[in-house]
Amino acid sequence: MPGDVWDEPITAVPGVGPARAARLMRLGVASVGDLLQLVPRRHVDLRDTRPVAALVPGVPVTVVGRVGPVRWRPSSTAPHLWVGQASLTDDRGDSLELVWFARAPAGRRRPVRWPVTVVPGARVAASGRAEPAAGRGWRMRQPVLEPVDGAAPAAGSPTAGLPAPLHTGRMVPEYPLTKGLTQRLMRRMVQGALAYAAGRIPDPLPAHLRREVGLCTKEEALRWLHFPDDPEGLAQARRRLAFEELLLLRLAAGARRAQGARGPGWPLGAPGPVVQRWLEQLPFALTGAQRRAMAEIDGDVARARPMQRLLQGDVGSGKTVVAAYCLLRAAAQGLQAALLAPSDLLAQQHAATLAAWLRPLGISVGLLRGATPRAEREDLLSRLARGEPLVVVGTHALLQPSVPFRRLAMVVVDEQHRFGVRQRAALAARTRPPHLLVVSATPIPRTLALCLYGDLDVSVLDEAPPGRLPVDTRWVRPGRRAEVYRFLRREVAAGRQGYVVFPAIGDSDGDEEQEVLAAAARLVRGPLAGIPVGLVHGRVPADQQSETMARFRAGEIKVLLATSVVEVGVDVPNATVMVIEGAERFGLAQLHQLRGRVGRGQQQAYCFLVADPTTPQARRRLQMMRTTHDGFALAQADLQLRGPGELLGLRQAGLPDLSPLARHPDPDLLAAVERWARILLDAAAAAGGEAAGATGPATPPEYAALWEAVARRWRPAEGTYGGLGA
Ligand code: ADP
Ligand code: MG
Repeated sequence: MPGDVWDEPITAVPGVGPARAARLMRLGVASVGDLLQLVPRRHVDLRDTRPVAALVPGVPVTVVGRVGPVRWRPSSTAPHLWVGQASLTDDRGDSLELVWFARAPAGRRRPVRWPVTVVPGARVAASGRAEPAAGRGWRMRQPVLEPVDGAAPAAGSPTAGLPAPLHTGRMVPEYPLTKGLTQRLMRRMVQGALAYAAGRIPDPLPAHLRREVGLCTKEEALRWLHFPDDPEGLAQARRRLAFEELLLLRLAAGARRAQGARGPGWPLGAPGPVVQRWLEQLPFALTGAQRRAMAEIDGDVARARPMQRLLQGDVGSGKTVVAAYCLLRAAAQGLQAALLAPSDLLAQQHAATLAAWLRPLGISVGLLRGATPRAEREDLLSRLARGEPLVVVGTHALLQPSVPFRRLAMVVVDEQHRFGVRQRAALAARTRPPHLLVVSATPIPRTLALCLYGDLDVSVLDEAPPGRLPVDTRWVRPGRRAEVYRFLRREVAAGRQGYVVFPAIGDSDGDEEQEVLAAAARLVRGPLAGIPVGLVHGRVPADQQSETMARFRAGEIKVLLATSVVEVGVDVPNATVMVIEGAERFGLAQLHQLRGRVGRGQQQAYCFLVADPTTPQARRRLQMMRTTHDGFALAQADLQLRGPGELLGLRQAGLPDLSPLARHPDPDLLAAVERWARILLDAAAAAGGEAAGATGPATPPEYAALWEAVARRWRPAEGTYGGLGA
């Protein structure tokens, strides 16, 4: 469909010139389609139109009548303030006083521009809240005015069928704004775009599908998204657009799965004696869930077609053992395996864990990171290039083409957040694509998971290792912080360790960094005086971080002061106390991850959320943390509160971010998406044998437009997903 109205530059819309286009660009709007799918933040319901005689105080309302001249005078009380007054007389002859305010800039007597101009005697609609005026009659402050010319646009004119009033007397949209754009201007431009594109908006959903699910056309949906007649119309529009977005996402995942990574991969034999020996020497018995996941992996890796599996499990469910199992399965057969960690810190921890497990079995484990000494690095690279069996641990930089894997049969990605569709596609495109296990601690609802990861098989670790006690979680006001640190001192005295976490420094400004450092310094001088502490945050050089972590793990450092770098995966079973400062600034899933750093051993563990929440929502989240230990429930709640983009870090991942419309799909809609995805994927498979979608061949013709839309949204070349505007 390239070349259709959707892709035309926004300047094609009458009334949008280069200056406005440049401003719209700041909202991410470049094309006609971008503007049409810019989701209003909200609508103000100004449909209630009344004569003056029926006014009620304080309710948003619209009054229609003839307006008199505006008389401006300086305010008698406030310097620089001017007050404008005009009367509005309705059809029954009752009047309402309209009042506006304008400010004169410093050093000038009068405002530069008056905020309203009227043609005296014109028929206008005034929207706002009316109050009884002192003495008698009614007054409306700062009303929005809009001329009502009576005549609706003639049939056949470009605005026929489009909303006549834009700012008054209707459900009025409010948009995100940027400098130089006003709500009035935005509404006019959106209306202009709707008029410009009218009758030419392609609908990827075929009519019989729409009828079956009960969805309106795309053009209706876009019109109602902006200018609905009533809340029901708005709800219909949102439902329709959410369905389309989720269906395209789901179909893209389905098409990727059908295309998959093709052979020849690395079919592995059954686990041999080395693997058996490793399993037997583990200091614990595997949980049933771990055994199940390993069996599923065995099934996958036996095939020539590469494994594409997602391993989901709550924090502390023991995902590392399963990840190690995968690496060992490849290495034990003389092949190369890579483990990608989300941070340098975790790469080091994983390398240490793996080395302890695998070196006794005669398997080399290498750590490749920025700080790896040159000689060691060259040695590792040349061994990789020679095709020697090796397990290499690093961050995502490991998959750069400059790392010369010769026999890479297995890739394990710990925490999928930064490993998106694009990265998966790059792996699949290797001449001999490796098996892939993606590990995630963020459980997401199954139906949404299908949309996001429909191309992966899923194993779930739904069983915690035995003997774990839930972390005793408390919410503490900053005023009682001293008690928290006394408690921490007592635990340290009893031989345990703890963490104190501050909101991240990473991408924030220097001030905040100073703040965290100052807070850490206060702790060291005060409540934690005399206790060996270490400090890690995003700006501490990597080698210093690793030294600190090693000393913490060894028990030399008793309390680790950290920003959220400790969030994922740090495993020190002797740590029993987690103090989270400024807890109201973290998301639920993140708090749960942090809490998961303790309670990994047999002792009772504690988590203190030091927070002074100012909103009811923040209070609810803290309550939830106290009462819920189920990562799944917390992720659900986080999804409701903040959307999947925040929950999964999708934005950074190049994974699809969902438009605000699709963030809270109701279960019925998701069920309909899944049902139709199945129908469409099966139809595509039957028609061509291959999932068409991204490649385009044989699809039943009635679905061609839909598959084309899938291919457009999910651009395989870039590996990104266009989404429906965020
Ligand atoms: P996560 O799923 O959060 O990555 P880890 O793999 O780090 O969890 O495991 C958490 C802790 O539980 C580790 O100390 C690990 O050695 C231990 N562990 C893993 N599996 C078991 C098991 N089956 N029984 C007892 N402890 C286990
Ligand atoms: Mg982990």
